[in-house]
Amino acid sequence: MKTKRKGSSFNSLNSKRELESVFLFTTGKCNAKCAMCFYANDMEKKADDLSFDEIRKLSESAGNFKRLWLSGGEPTLREDLPEIVEMFYKNNHITDLNFPTNGIKTERLIEWLTRLRKSCPECNISVSISLDGFGQTHDTQRGIPSFYRAAETLKKIDDNFKDDGHVLKNIATVITKYNVEEVVDFITWVYGRFNVSTHTIEAARGATREDGIKVLTEKSLVEIQDKIAPYYLLYAKRIGEGMNFIGRGMTKFFYVGLMRAMYTLRAKNLEKPCCWNMDCTAGETTLVIDYDGRFRACELRDPIGKVQDYDCNVQAIMSGDAMKKEIAAIGHGYTANCWCTHGCWMMSSITFNPGKMISMLIKANRETKQLSRLNPVQVDEAKLRELEAKYHLDIEKLGQIGLVEKTAGAA
Ligand code: SF4
Ligand code: SF4
Repeated sequence: MKTKRKGSSFNSLNSKRELESVFLFTTGKCNAKCAMCFYANDMEKKADDLSFDEIRKLSESAGNFKRLWLSGGEPTLREDLPEIVEMFYKNNHITDLNFPTNGIKTERLIEWLTRLRKSCPECNISVSISLDGFGQTHDTQRGIPSFYRAAETLKKIDDNFKDDGHVLKNIATVITKYNVEEVVDFITWVYGRFNVSTHTIEAARGATREDGIKVLTEKSLVEIQDKIAPYYLLYAKRIGEGMNFIGRGMTKFFYVGLMRAMYTLRAKNLEKPCCWNMDCTAGETTLVIDYDGRFRACELRDPIGKVQDYDCNVQAIMSGDAMKKEIAAIGHGYTANCWCTHGCWMMSSITFNPGKMISMLIKANRETKQLSRLNPVQVDEAKLRELEAKYHLDIEKLGQIGLVEKTAGAA
């Protein structure tokens, strides 16, 4: 039986600023070597990961909050991750789990998702697999051969949780010099070959492992975003399948609006910090905890303390002087002095600025509709085959994974 997904916290307007999202870097270990990794320097420190007991104290002191964002390092390398998630479900009543992964540990991921669906039945789990481009492009950017593995993981998750509305499958692509020329084709191919709920693009951010890979300008990013805008209408339709008329309409309005609004803000901030026209609520509604216990208001600002110095008490951290000073340093509204391209914080902040949100979403929906009329997209088997040939994908491997008919190789 198909299980329906409950609304995400992104769909709820909330003007009361309280802790909503905890970003937990579960481990400093990783099995990839991504050129655009903004956490490589932190992982190089090779400090110890927070212990289970330290994380337990954090969970027990945090009170209820909605979203747990796993991060790292590679989250699947932390052996006790299912227990950690279950603890936050029990203690903090999280409703949304964001689970980014490079998709290399296929069997483990399926096993853990199966377990978490039983132990945390009301929690929406968004699995976000990194796929950066076609075949070799992905492997070059990720520093290890993992394209077909990650694709297989995604396919297996779809096969195992096809009818489970609580498991959302996403693909995340970071744009760098390696994939900038093919990213629009890649969006097309992903939409046609994978049954995912969304495919987000990110501009490489922070201090990357490899220098010189950030090649986007505001103009080139806007061009890419305009070309891919029609796909977000298609994704909204896909997410809304099975919902009633009102549900479909609301899903389309919020999904298309949020994606376009986020992309517009990101492009504006790519070359220089530029006011979001709303507060960034980092530090008020979000807490980032590094794998070794340092904490921050957001991923892009410096650590402002160590959770161990607060006896791992989240209430004490959020109300402490260090966080108060940090929130004051970030500032508010037009007088704020900290703006960036980070989509997660834009999305989160939009929901805490309901007055601004509605006008941004109306504008974003109008623009997306216009772009879809100007550039209607067509994704059919012939187009997909053409892309697979153009980017030299191994059809036999895609057939083994189940993404194409096995006979397609003969074409
Ligand atoms: S981006 Fe993620 S997967 Fe890649 S090296 Fe960094 S932590 Fe690992
Ligand atoms: S604008 Fe960006 S860098 Fe500044 S506090 Fe918000 S998320 Fe962090």
